[in-house]
Amino acid sequence: MKKLSLVLLALGILPALWAQQHEDAVPDTSWKKLYRESPERINDLVHTKLDVKFDYSKSQMNGKAWITLTPHFYPTDSLTLDAKGMDIHKVAIVKGASSQPLKFDYDQWQLDIKLDKTYKGGEKYTVYIEYTAKPDEVKVQGSAAITDAKGLYFINPRGEEKNKPTQIWTQGETEATSVWCPTIDKPGQKTTNEIIMTVPAKYVTLSNGKLASQKNNSDGTRTDAWKMELPHAPYLFFMGVGEYSIIKDTYKGKEVNYYVEKEYAPVAKKIFGHTPEMMGFFSKALGVEYPWVKYSQIVGRDYVSGAMENTTATLHQESAQQDGRELLDGNGWESTIAHELFHQWFGDLVTCESWSNLTLNESFANYSETLWDEFKYGKDAGDAQNYGDMQGYIGSQSEKKDLVRFYYNDKEAMFDAVSYNKGGRILNMLRSYVGDSAFFKSLNLYLNTNKFKSAEAHQLRLAFEEITGKDLNWFWNQWYFGAGHPKLTIDYVYDDNAKKVQVIVKQTQAGDKAFILPVAVDIYNGAEKVRHNVWIKNKVDTLTFTYSSRPDLVNVDGNKTLLAEKTDNKTLENFIHQYKYAGQYLDRREAIDFASRNQDNPKAQELMALALKDKYHGLRSLAISKLDLKNETVKKQAEPILAEIAQRDTKTTVRASALTSLALYNDGTYKSLFTKSVNDSSYTVAGNALDALFKLDSAAAVAEAKRLTKYKAKNKLMESITKILVKSGDENSFDAIAKAFKDMPISQAKFNLLQPFCDFLAIVKDTKKVKEGVDLVVDFRDELAPYGAVPYVNGMLQNVITKKNAAFTADADKAKAKEQTDYIISNIKGDEKKGF
Ligand SMILES: [Zn+2]
Repeated sequence: MKKLSLVLLALGILPALWAQQHEDAVPDTSWKKLYRESPERINDLVHTKLDVKFDYSKSQMNGKAWITLTPHFYPTDSLTLDAKGMDIHKVAIVKGASSQPLKFDYDQWQLDIKLDKTYKGGEKYTVYIEYTAKPDEVKVQGSAAITDAKGLYFINPRGEEKNKPTQIWTQGETEATSVWCPTIDKPGQKTTNEIIMTVPAKYVTLSNGKLASQKNNSDGTRTDAWKMELPHAPYLFFMGVGEYSIIKDTYKGKEVNYYVEKEYAPVAKKIFGHTPEMMGFFSKALGVEYPWVKYSQIVGRDYVSGAMENTTATLHQESAQQDGRELLDGNGWESTIAHELFHQWFGDLVTCESWSNLTLNESFANYSETLWDEFKYGKDAGDAQNYGDMQGYIGSQSEKKDLVRFYYNDKEAMFDAVSYNKGGRILNMLRSYVGDSAFFKSLNLYLNTNKFKSAEAHQLRLAFEEITGKDLNWFWNQWYFGAGHPKLTIDYVYDDNAKKVQVIVKQTQAGDKAFILPVAVDIYNGAEKVRHNVWIKNKVDTLTFTYSSRPDLVNVDGNKTLLAEKTDNKTLENFIHQYKYAGQYLDRREAIDFASRNQDNPKAQELMALALKDKYHGLRSLAISKLDLKNETVKKQAEPILAEIAQRDTKTTVRASALTSLALYNDGTYKSLFTKSVNDSSYTVAGNALDALFKLDSAAAVAEAKRLTKYKAKNKLMESITKILVKSGDENSFDAIAKAFKDMPISQAKFNLLQPFCDFLAIVKDTKKVKEGVDLVVDFRDELAPYGAVPYVNGMLQNVITKKNAAFTADADKAKAKEQTDYIISNIKGDEKKGF
């Protein structure tokens, strides 16, 4: 799964909110004493057959289930199934063509069945259950209906919402399949399955495995039977129903399908079209062919997470659906596509035995994003992905959490920056330590040894030890069963008389723990590099190297793979050498960072100019964003380069950054460039150009913004149009602004609009409009509630009240202001009662 919060984090959203998700925000720590043991396997699933019909009028599902099981080892005469919030109509044991009823107890959560006899280990039996699933009414004992683990979701089931299709999709992870299918809802279980769905004939369906048959019925419905002939875990069961265009692709003769809303059919291959190439790359790297019969991807409205790797049937959030103009700035969903696909091996073929071992699913899926970028777009792109994810982990401030955690409050809390971002970086370090060949051979052994089964982190260790011959307990104890990361201060002492350099590495992280770090230290004289592989093991280590002439650079962690925070006390000259000769993404990034802090120095200025032409677009953008344009020399030197980039860089996002910088020159000669660029196909270029034009000629920009409201706009362009209309303060623009805000999906752009939109509401006088605007802000606030946004947004609403009270001073206005501020207050208070 890719949690929406992590998608948003990767997109740079919510850093302000992220902090509020920390464990220490939960005052109750009694759970810390609770060891989360793996559930005992008394019975094992063997096969699950479902026959279901949907009741759209009630958002319910009527199901018949035939579940074949066998005692795991010891004989048993009873069976407990997870079955959440259902009406159970009948439970029976199947005996050939007939069946006999069984006694059962049901507490709305688990179904305890007394079998007809004692079954021995390995002896199979089949129970038959008739039931009604009622996902909207499921409650965790004693609490309110749950919204994020309903398992089965009816989207606009009665067609009451305009502009929203009617869909059904399911979300099993972590343990919500049992809302619509009685099962043993644990990741350690594996079963084959058949899902037979009867749906209105206008809809298509998607489930696990292959579509075995389709039959039209006389009542306008159609019955589709899906068959999954290889075992997988119940949380990976999937049903999807709706009006979709199915775009067909193929990988080695296997079906690869993309289910998108009709509007996106023409761009579906631009969004998902790298999938077959990814399947080929991952299959080859792992030495394990894509294991399943087909691979489909479907987009679901109002999906509660980012994406989910249901076996052969991945579900994506609607943000995956990007139009042609958005895609010009890069496919924002490509990493997620790689992530879910890699899960088909890590998660689906071999599954984490318990949620404590979630790293075996999510760290791999996360790391696949780096692997894919590296393969497809080059080492810089892979390293940039790796670095971004490392920052995501460091920013999450989760240094106290072990990667494999047997103590947690809620299993959902395992889906965090440790299991994903940190775990991915740990795999990257492991790869660097054992080498590429051993790394992928070990993964191959792990997959082949544990396929169609579940595994714990130790099974991964054993595979690596088997291949490399090395004892790797130190690595697993430190990174898998330990917490935190090293914080390093690196100093260099050169002694030209003795011809020696001492590299002093201090570990400054809190506590006594010293990390064991195998690192490469590269010593440069000109372009020539000598590598020393050394171990850092203590809180303070002094490494001594001899030289004949003083090195231009001593580069600790030459592979740039360490998961660490570093204070690296190199000189500017060292960093310049590093930029030019060490040459990896992070080498260059560190040098740009250092130079950008020293832009009074001519040598640093030179490096910044060089970085503006870096071969990797991400570093060009970084250099542009770090230019100190208050420094006249820098400003003068950069201008012709920026002008060139703004018009001709191969990457739209870099052109867009250059436009933003050029705006700071406040030079009328750029007006024609900005005006022209407002009409660029790239939303980012057009949006930044509109902002730039506003700085130069606000009236012209407002006119452009008004003109552009007639056309479709998204992302940065929509953000800029709306911000400029807000700044114009023209109440007549309210409808256009409100519509833009309403139509925007959860995104960076929409988040950026919150503050200006609230500023606008503060000056709008029409009470009806104010209420409509407040409703929109409140809706977005509630959407962001799981990420801790409520106090943040309520603070903005509070400011609207303050501003209104200050601005509306005339008596006639005061009454109006009171009505408006009362409305806002009721919305702030109302929310607190809901207890977000
Ligand atoms: Zn995932």
